Amino acid sequence: MNIPFLDLKANYNSIKSEVDSAIQNVLDNTAYILGAAVQNFEKDFAAAQHVKYCLGTSSGTDANHLVLWGLGVGPGDEVIIPANTFIATAWGATLCGATPVFVDCHPESYNLDPAKVEAAITSKTKAIVAVHLYGQSADLDPLKEIAKKHNILLVEDAAQAHLAEYKGKPIGGQSAAASFSYYPGKNLGAYGEGGAVTTNDEALFNRVKKLREHGQSQKYYHDSLGHNYRMEGIQGAVLGVKLKHLSKWTDARRAVATKYNDGLKALAKVITPKEMSYAKHVYHLYVIQLNDGSLEASNQLRDKLKDYLTQQGVNVGLHYPIPLHLQECFKDLGYKKGEFPNSERIAEAGLSLPMFPEMTDEQINYVVGKVKEFFS
Ligand SMILES: *Cc1c(COP(=O)(O)O)cnc(C)c1O
Repeated sequence: MNIPFLDLKANYNSIKSEVDSAIQNVLDNTAYILGAAVQNFEKDFAAAQHVKYCLGTSSGTDANHLVLWGLGVGPGDEVIIPANTFIATAWGATLCGATPVFVDCHPESYNLDPAKVEAAITSKTKAIVAVHLYGQSADLDPLKEIAKKHNILLVEDAAQAHLAEYKGKPIGGQSAAASFSYYPGKNLGAYGEGGAVTTNDEALFNRVKKLREHGQSQKYYHDSLGHNYRMEGIQGAVLGVKLKHLSKWTDARRAVATKYNDGLKALAKVITPKEMSYAKHVYHLYVIQLNDGSLEASNQLRDKLKDYLTQQGVNVGLHYPIPLHLQECFKDLGYKKGEFPNSERIAEAGLSLPMFPEMTDEQINYVVGKVKEFFS
């Protein structure tokens, strides 16, 4: 049996006629950039996330940049970022000319540890980026308090967390602004690149809207610097169709996670993901952690399980194999191995199992069975 890591084809087949006609509609209207399909999607996505404003962008990375750019982050500023995230969180800061300052994650939530954030704040700190990693909300309230106390901004990287909740409310509108990604493999994925900025702040919305389109509010009149970060019409149409199914797909992901949790709980060396009391996890990724005592032993066990599952046709992933503070591109910042143990542990001992809404019980049981077989 071959179990894909995710199955975009099965997903497309489940909505083919709806999505084909939405794309055809864009072709017929020739609204290739922004246009009605994008506007309708922005309105619907804002409603889904319980936030006032949403702006479709060309990618999640671009949305990361737009959020910090719109908030005035620039050269000389420092931006606090979790050490364990996808690199694009840091590009938001570097594209503004700011310096990323990394902070370790909490050992159970894998998200920014509020207890460690304060020590990283300096007179140059301008913002904290809370990433809702793997689909679970970061602990926003203590982060908000720290941001308020030091008069700095809190923003969210919600690229992996569409419809995720913090204390019963969707994320995306619980900080100054949030960025989303619609990369095809994300919980809500376009058929190409796409992203969004959400905010409740009207002035920020207007600034970001201008930055998204060449610093203009009127064509060819550029009253600020800007860039081309617009969403394509076809992506807006695809996303509009898929958004209608997202809550059902999110339930399906949560059901897969529950079955994995039940199937794996008896294994002493496997730590299954923990849904924190404040969070509704949307399981963009289902990441287990291997524990065999020392980090070295856990890393070896992880690699052996990874090889075994791969041989048995189970496609697995690593998210992410190298934490940001140890990436070559940030060598000049002077971080050292051992500095952020929780982030390093998930990099070395974490393993992502297949996770997608269309997973059948047969597929889930096969994965669980192969993990158990490895330990027997
Ligand atoms: C995917 C992702 C991004 C970037 O999104 P793109 O649409 O691929 O540019 C940013 N941050 C995180 C945490 C992501 O997972």
